[in-house]
Amino acid sequence: MRRLRGRILRPLFSETRLSPSDLVAPVFIDETAEKKREIASMPGQFRYPLSMAGDVAREIHDAGIRALLLFGIPKEKDASASAAFDPDGVVQRAVRAIRDEVPEMAIITDVCACEYTDHGHCGIVGESRHGPDLLNDPSLDLMNRIALSHAESGADIVAPSCMLDGVVQSIRAALDREGHSDVAIMSYSTKFASALYGPFRDAAGSGFRFGDRSTYQLPPGNAREALLESMLDLDEGADILMVKPAGFYLDILAEVRTLGIPVAAFQVSGEYAMIRAAAEKGWLRERDVVLETLTCIRRAGADLLITYFARDVAGWLDEEQ
Ligand SMILES: [Zn+2]
Repeated sequence: MRRLRGRILRPLFSETRLSPSDLVAPVFIDETAEKKREIASMPGQFRYPLSMAGDVAREIHDAGIRALLLFGIPKEKDASASAAFDPDGVVQRAVRAIRDEVPEMAIITDVCACEYTDHGHCGIVGESRHGPDLLNDPSLDLMNRIALSHAESGADIVAPSCMLDGVVQSIRAALDREGHSDVAIMSYSTKFASALYGPFRDAAGSGFRFGDRSTYQLPPGNAREALLESMLDLDEGADILMVKPAGFYLDILAEVRTLGIPVAAFQVSGEYAMIRAAAEKGWLRERDVVLETLTCIRRAGADLLITYFARDVAGWLDEEQ
């Protein structure tokens, strides 16, 4: 076997390659920020003010990355997440600014309410049998309104991340009804109730006031349930499925891959923070670890890699050319 592993021949036989066009860069736009602010638990990642949205998109595109995933931090939060579907809300304005500055950028928007609700949950909260909880069907209309307002602002792909039952079907019908049949849906279909989301909640200001998200996100040990979630979203009309987090869930990714439609993997904030922290301490070589994790996530079946390392990776791939 070693004959093909020498310096000259090895590159000819690489089965999995990374390319900048696989990468999706998450971007946080903060309506309350005047200038860019580093996120404490995610060194090297920033919340940007609205005035910088176009420039950030330009930088990302100049690095060779074709897509970004947009998160908004609004000025005002309330129980019904009304800022989330405001035509002049933070994401809606950011989408328009990015579209103006970089018309060829694929703009994906996160469709959820947790950054916009004062209680920090992903939709409408009410009493359930066991105390306050996220209400499923009353939250669907909210998701439709958010997705529609993003589509109207110019988003190419809307990405519902709330894990509500029936949300993909609901948004698909709403988009089609309102003349947005060309807007695609990337469903956070297979999202685990992971301990790795902590730094994101700092980044997006979406920590919750009571409870947790375990009543709507998947238990980490449940593979059959995870596959069923993905199949249901496929049936409901998702164009792209997603596994989140990525690195701990490669077996799930490999199975979701077999369903036949494109799959995205989200290397989440905790995965980023672990690598960054170890690298800062000099315990790991950051570049090598990042490229290895992403290569393995690709190998397991991801078509798209949503990663906070996107810009670093694009730069490294460019150097390797
Ligand atoms: Zn949410």
